[in-house]
Amino acid sequence: MRFFILTAVHFLIFLCSCAAIWLIWKQFKKWQFKNQPFPTEWNEILNTNLPIYSKLPQPLRQQLDHKVKYFIRDKTFYGCDGLVVTDEIRVTIAGQACLLLLNRPTNHYYKLHHILVYPSSFVASRSEQNESGVVSHKRTGMLGESWSQGKVILSWDDVIKGANNFSDGQNVVLHEFAHQLDQESGSTNGAPLLGTQSSYQSWAKVLSKEFETLQRQTNSGYGSLIDQYGATNPAEFFAVVTETFFERPVQLRHRHPELFEEMKLFYAVDPTEWVD
Ligand SMILES: [Zn+2]
Repeated sequence: MRFFILTAVHFLIFLCSCAAIWLIWKQFKKWQFKNQPFPTEWNEILNTNLPIYSKLPQPLRQQLDHKVKYFIRDKTFYGCDGLVVTDEIRVTIAGQACLLLLNRPTNHYYKLHHILVYPSSFVASRSEQNESGVVSHKRTGMLGESWSQGKVILSWDDVIKGANNFSDGQNVVLHEFAHQLDQESGSTNGAPLLGTQSSYQSWAKVLSKEFETLQRQTNSGYGSLIDQYGATNPAEFFAVVTETFFERPVQLRHRHPELFEEMKLFYAVDPTEWVD
């Protein structure tokens, strides 16, 4: 009997030791990854492909590097239509996607797992049903798509165009990843996770008013700073305003000050500080 008790105790000690070693090993790997320097080649890619990167204040640039490292470790990239995924593709996409995470307590788009990249715009099939119940199928050319089931699809041609020109208010990566943030709340409705009840009230008041204004302008054929695609629905409005906030912040602050403040509070950065 004593032999069996001793054996059981030894076995328990052995199991505890294994668990402790495993935990220490895990902590060590975490520490090692966190302290791994940002690869010089990745730095060069960001400097070349994403001119806004060199304009970021140093602490934000360091934060972006850190978040890009985690993003590339945690998300799987797939090349479509024969595209071979390279570091240039990974880093250029991650660099823009992580701009939306700066100063926020996360390194993740936690619902996102896969990023599919096409060489250029891709064709997607869509089913639509009209009021009479007739279902039609459309094949539409797309620059990007964000799915709630952990997937983003992008056209590489348009990713690189958006990264190079960071002042036209058009950026497919910012757009699709804003949808990912929106989807984190459980429904894609233009209201991402905001925290307090007063934040939701203020967000709803300002964004609803601005969305209706954009719809009116679009219907009457007036031009606007915010791309008219934002008038499609509240989810597209949030994604389009995200593009404007990061790419044309001075104009947005001047022409839509309340909307600018809401976006600044949500994204926890002020892009007017980075532009010339
Ligand atoms: Zn969209």
